Amino acid sequence: NADSAMYRAKELGRNTFHFYTEELTRAAGRRLAMETRLRRAIEHREFVLYFQPQVSVADGRTIGVEALVRWNDKEKGLVGPDEFIPVAEESGLIAPLGLWVLKEACRQLQVWRHRGLALPQVAVNFSSQQFLLQDVTARVSEALELSGLPPEFLELEITESLLMRQGDSAPAMLRSLKDLGVRLVIDDFGIGYSSLAYLREFPIDRLKIDQSFVRDIETDHSAREIASTVVAMGHNLSLEVLAEGVENVRQLEILKMLECDAYQGFFASAPLPAEDLPGWLAAWPSPSGRSNT
Ligand code: C2E
Ligand code: MG
Ligand code: MG
Ligand code: MG
Repeated sequence: NADSAMYRAKELGRNTFHFYTEELTRAAGRRLAMETRLRRAIEHREFVLYFQPQVSVADGRTIGVEALVRWNDKEKGLVGPDEFIPVAEESGLIAPLGLWVLKEACRQLQVWRHRGLALPQVAVNFSSQQFLLQDVTARVSEALELSGLPPEFLELEITESLLMRQGDSAPAMLRSLKDLGVRLVIDDFGIGYSSLAYLREFPIDRLKIDQSFVRDIETDHSAREIASTVVAMGHNLSLEVLAEGVENVRQLEILKMLECDAYQGFFASAPLPAEDLPGWLAAWPSPSGRSNT
């Protein structure tokens, strides 16, 4: 990318070349500065986990929470993952950061379990990059041991790109994770390029329909068809299906009609700081109480 920009710059002549070079140098500088700050932030543990509830479509029962990392930066305040995960991936810092997220998520769920909160699981996001940098199975095993969290309470969110990128080693790798007793989920399902045949080979428990389909589910026929197809196919393969990004009751009604199993999204709750989750759980209608529609 940088190379082709340079090439174009050269073609455009000397002045433009200087402009592009400066621009590229500046971009590289910003990236390096970000990497340095990120490295320091990891050392000083300037990250926090937010937790977004996951809810049953049929009866509103809370089935778990997804852990979503934020950077609590002294200057900028809370910074979202989309702004720093890509840099963490490119620089390899995703390995120590991901490890912190994993341990912290297990620790926090154990705290809640000991307080008697009805939370059947915590989901943790894994970048494909993490699998290249570290022995994820060993790290997950350690995190479970350290926290005392039973494995069935931990869900790992992976992406289609991991299934594709790892090639032949992917089935064995996922099998070794699965053998720990954790649950495996494919995040953002439907937007990546993955062969459907792969789903048969991998010990997957759940698919998460990408939020882009849910966003357009009321208005866009093809978005709705894709959601419908993912639910039907998932169920045929004995997988649970969760829809991401549900923001209103009309979207939820459609998902109910499609017999989608679970959802998360602003309609139930935005991601919450850990201290706010018990209050949300107490206020959220229980399955025996009123339904959430
Ligand atoms: P994701 O795992 O697909 O998470 C869903 C994202 O959608 C989250 O953004 C969440 O806050 C947002 N969201 C939830 N409900 C709604 C809704 O109703 N409407 C809309 N428009 N958005 C909603 P967030 O927290 O900014 O995270 C973005 C992405 O960053 C995540 O996408 C995930 O891929 C990545 N990420 C977050 N935490 C981690 C982590 O600990 N490790 C790694 N490797 N990636 C992470
Ligand atoms: Mg996720
Ligand atoms: Mg997602
Ligand atoms: Mg995403």
